[in-house]
Amino acid sequence: MSEKRVYLFGNGKAEGKADMKNLLGGKGANLAEMNLIGVPVPPGFTITTDVCNEYFEKGKEEVVALLRESVVNGVKHVEQLMGLKFGDATNPLLMSVRSGARASMPGMMDTILNLGLNDEVVTGLAKKTGNERFAYDSYRRFVQMYGDVVLGMKPLNKEDIDPFEAIIQKVKAQRGIHLDNEMSVDELKSLVVLFKEAIKEQTGKEFPNDPMEQLWGAICAVFDSWMNDRAILYRKMEGIPQEWGTAVTVMAMVFGNMGNTSATGVCFSRDAATGENRFNGEYLVNAQGEDVVAGIRTPQQITREGSLRWAAQQGIEEEVRVSKYPSMEEAMPEIFQQLNDLQEKLENHYHDMQDMEFTVQEGKLWFLQTRNGKRTGTAMVRIAMNLLHEGQIDEKTALLRCEPNKLDELLHPVFDKEALAQAHVLTRGLPASPGAACGQVVFFADDAAAWHAEGRQVVMVRIETSPEDLAGMSAAEGILTARGGMTSHAAVVARGMGKCCVSGAGAINVDYKSRTVEIDGTVLKEGDYISLNGSTGEVYAGEVKTRPAEVTGDFAELMKLCSKYSKLVVRTNADTPHDAEVARNFGAVGIGLCRTEHMFFENEKIKAMREMILADTTEGRERALEKLLPYQKQDFYGILKCMDGMPVNIRLLDPPLHEFVPHDLAGQEIMAQEMGVSVKKIQDRVQSLSEHNPMLGLRGCRLGNTFPEITAMQTRAILGAAVQLKKEGYDPHPEIMVPLVGIVNELDAQERVIRDTARKLFAEEGVSIDFKVGTMIEIPRAALTADKIAVKAEYFSFGTNDLTQMTFGYSRDDIASFLPSYLEKKILDVDPFQVLDQNGVGQLVQMAVKKGRSVRPDLKCGICGEHGGEPSSVKFCHHAGLNYVSCSPFRVPIARLAAAQAAVEE
Ligand code: PEP
Ligand code: MG
Repeated sequence: MSEKRVYLFGNGKAEGKADMKNLLGGKGANLAEMNLIGVPVPPGFTITTDVCNEYFEKGKEEVVALLRESVVNGVKHVEQLMGLKFGDATNPLLMSVRSGARASMPGMMDTILNLGLNDEVVTGLAKKTGNERFAYDSYRRFVQMYGDVVLGMKPLNKEDIDPFEAIIQKVKAQRGIHLDNEMSVDELKSLVVLFKEAIKEQTGKEFPNDPMEQLWGAICAVFDSWMNDRAILYRKMEGIPQEWGTAVTVMAMVFGNMGNTSATGVCFSRDAATGENRFNGEYLVNAQGEDVVAGIRTPQQITREGSLRWAAQQGIEEEVRVSKYPSMEEAMPEIFQQLNDLQEKLENHYHDMQDMEFTVQEGKLWFLQTRNGKRTGTAMVRIAMNLLHEGQIDEKTALLRCEPNKLDELLHPVFDKEALAQAHVLTRGLPASPGAACGQVVFFADDAAAWHAEGRQVVMVRIETSPEDLAGMSAAEGILTARGGMTSHAAVVARGMGKCCVSGAGAINVDYKSRTVEIDGTVLKEGDYISLNGSTGEVYAGEVKTRPAEVTGDFAELMKLCSKYSKLVVRTNADTPHDAEVARNFGAVGIGLCRTEHMFFENEKIKAMREMILADTTEGRERALEKLLPYQKQDFYGILKCMDGMPVNIRLLDPPLHEFVPHDLAGQEIMAQEMGVSVKKIQDRVQSLSEHNPMLGLRGCRLGNTFPEITAMQTRAILGAAVQLKKEGYDPHPEIMVPLVGIVNELDAQERVIRDTARKLFAEEGVSIDFKVGTMIEIPRAALTADKIAVKAEYFSFGTNDLTQMTFGYSRDDIASFLPSYLEKKILDVDPFQVLDQNGVGQLVQMAVKKGRSVRPDLKCGICGEHGGEPSSVKFCHHAGLNYVSCSPFRVPIARLAAAQAAVEE
């Protein structure tokens, strides 16, 4: 690791730059870059992410000693550029201390503002600025933030509000005032004292007076926040490795709370919810940064157009809007112009939508941060396509700009228009994150997570959300808040997650104690149903019906680009015509796996199936199979018809037979009655089917080889359906797949049954069908002997669920008993049943492809295990030279994008 632990920036110069995100974090790298391109930024310095790792290895004391000299230097550098002195009572410099990881983690880690204040410095600040209110307002904010972040002053119970907020409310109530800025200077002074007393009482800690001690406390607290629960959870959700660490940026404070020519805000170069190309954002006059995101005051819009739209949503009249909530464009036109020019400059520099923070101090504009903005899936696609049309990026970049898993959001259901027209609108808030959400009202994050785990759909209703609510937000279908604007915590996080969110619904009264929310006279209790429209901000009583999403517009265009660049094609795993149709609409070009066993579970079919299992003789089994034949044929007819002209890969019966018989007495009694046999006979048969390791027992092609009449019946059903379709003028392309082959002889025997049956059928019907016989490669031995197997198999389909099971020796049904512990101990990085193990299982895949094609050069290879819809695994399949991946219908667009990215990245 490098000896250089601290990087300086300021006054148009910087030691870092944008491409040093790994070392300086996103914030540190971009602050450096902004200096280099002429965007005004307060001077400061960044402590590297390497130091964060050092901090957790070596401990606080050692790292502070290692850093001391460079940090003292950094402070001097800022003092020089600002012409101020840290800790000085006549000409004081105040600092902010901010976290910043490589990937943005909004609100997950800690920030401290106004650092450097104490009882002496504050009097100097008041004198120097001639603004006592500002000085004490800054001081009380500092004590509040430092108390929370560094000294651990948190609410004691979840129903309680923030302890500092409680003190503020008490002070305001005593004087009968409502707004923070109505407090007198004396009241602000008393808050400082009350806050410090409360901290001492609750935490036993004395508030530090010495600014340097405050600075070290803050730096260490930011490092510590890398390991707080919410940051750990966020990293888990986003797949961010712990080793990345966070950087710490210390920079000179600039003040948005110095009066009416000062302000602070957050803005986006495009709409993060919809992706529309319109500059937007929120600001507050005479306020500090956290006021905008904390949702305590109602922020105003930056642009006039945004302000008009907001007022319409909120039902605010034009006169009131202009006098109470004017846009920055109207209230501070010159600053607005500068801001607008700089946001454009930054977007053009980074060629991506920017999310920026700024402060105006007495008429001078400063940028505090810029980053590529978090956005919804819809916005992600639209922004990429628009940037492409505008010529800012090329097609390949546009493809790489989209994150495959985020497409999932575009596939979620939307509200049914008719149902929506009839639904009762309770109130309106801000359309903070689009989508449709229905669920039962819950008020607390832990309840949201617990109810969700029970399989219930919940909507989390809060006054406002804080980073502590992350797990609940993730579990909820949607989020509704009473306070907070479009850049509040709830809004930003929800958009990042692609969750529907309505924020700032001022008419809702949330009461945590009674667990109720009152909306315009209607009272909803915990557990009552509510629906949210995150695209319009409307809130409805009860459940509103939804309908499936469609691939249109920008999404369709992106999918077209995917087809243009990818080498792999995408098929789907589907067992019903409905699933097949959904997948086809999402662009699947065939079925890669049709599991036939799922077809046996309906009423009459399960009876015939059980009769087959119960039979003692081949004739008995054949009689039962004869009953099953028409059902199976009908099923295959539907699927082949829906996928007309495309390959449909149907797998012969695979699971152990015990899955089809009842294991409880009541079920056995019913079965006995239906079959006309004794309960004892059923029980004996169930007993005889029981195996010690059913996954390694009588299943897969072992079934078809033990009872060839099953294979014959299924072949007749598949090819019979195809013949019928062909007679009707369709173009069916069936493929018959033999599962769980480990030895070529297993495939050989099955293939003979299939071909014999086909010959007879075609002769009877006078029509023949072109079809293929292939196999699954899901047993390690099959991969090892793939050159033998390919002599018989016309195609391979990798069943990576079983292949993973048998390569690791982990039961796919029992892994839950040790997976969490393995992940926690880092024995495994990920669940190998979700993400393909490229080093182990992947080698078997590569080997089998190579060996197979050595004897059959045109051997078609695909994958049909769950990994076929997981982006990193899809990319692996591309590199392994597979022809296709097959995944569940709703993952088809995701796999298509991952396949295109793999080709582009190559
Ligand atoms: C597999 O094993 O990967 C596979 C697709 O088959 P199944 O999951 O049905 O065993
Ligand atoms: Mg399998």
